[in-house]
Amino acid sequence: MTDIRIAEKVIDKFERPLISLRISITNRCNVKCFYCHHDGIKPQNYEMTPNEIEKIVRVAKEIGIEKIRLSGGEPLIRDDIIEIVSKISSVGFHDISLTTNGVLLGKYAENLYKAGLTRINVSFDTLNSETYKFITKRDYMEDTMEGIEKAVKAGLNPVKVNMVVMKGINDNEIWDMFTFCKDVGAILQLIELLKTENCEESDFFDEYHYDMGGLEDHLSKISNRVKTRKFMQDRKKYFVKGGEIEIVRPMDNTEFCKNCTRLRITPDGKIKPCLLRNDNLIDLIEPMRSGFSDEELKKVFLKAIKNREPYFTDASC
Ligand code: SAM
Repeated sequence: MTDIRIAEKVIDKFERPLISLRISITNRCNVKCFYCHHDGIKPQNYEMTPNEIEKIVRVAKEIGIEKIRLSGGEPLIRDDIIEIVSKISSVGFHDISLTTNGVLLGKYAENLYKAGLTRINVSFDTLNSETYKFITKRDYMEDTMEGIEKAVKAGLNPVKVNMVVMKGINDNEIWDMFTFCKDVGAILQLIELLKTENCEESDFFDEYHYDMGGLEDHLSKISNRVKTRKFMQDRKKYFVKGGEIEIVRPMDNTEFCKNCTRLRITPDGKIKPCLLRNDNLIDLIEPMRSGFSDEELKKVFLKAIKNREPYFTDASC
């Protein structure tokens, strides 16, 4: 089967258009969340330079990618983060976002906005300093709260707070977090805990997993309006009590794969066509070093897309 082109967008052989690119720019992090899945990426030594990232997004734009998200590790740990965002913006992207733990956000929010960042997600699970320390093994709760406020003030829009809800840890804080977000001008995004490779060892998934099905039922009853977001794995957005709550449910299902319009790049410059696989990565750095033109790099991208297939299909269930 060949790739089908509609307008300038590349569609894979399962008819999924490629719309967004999630670039992990480092594996390093300044907190140690015990549940972290590390975005499914194995540790690497090499980190792409701003010029390499610029070249990759230029080619990604050619194949129809519209949105860039920077992640990690902790993206704000990189000293050249402003340069990276500026270079992506200079390529002509108007939807550039970043996922951060917010510890360094107070320092960077304004300059990130000026460099062309449009929106931001801040991972922040609790308003209780002891719980924060338990989760992250660090004492940066106040810095993160300040970072969220500065991001809103800087003009990043929307600012979303990602809260991983865990049974017996922070499930009693959902409405406090909702109020904090509403007051500060952010949107609360509740995330259901996922199993990670560490889970088998620690059993923390069974201990802390909080099924958000019941909460979703409750929200759909009390909300003024519910919006289902196509191309975002049909995630639900609830308009409730004068604010908004979004829910991110587990990704290990056929619906997630069917609606997946995302490619990923690892910190060492490999295309990762699937969040859940590491056996089909395709390197971009060596081809760049050996002088590949943009047209040739585009072919590397198309090869990665051609081999792209859903991890979970109806047949696999
Ligand atoms: N350092 C950045 C941050 O803290 O946002 C980016 C990387 S972090 C891996 C990206 C997102 O994944 C965060 O919102 C985090 O809460 C979420 N996450 C990590 N492990 C998870 C798990 N086991 N279940 C659900 N979400 C998880």
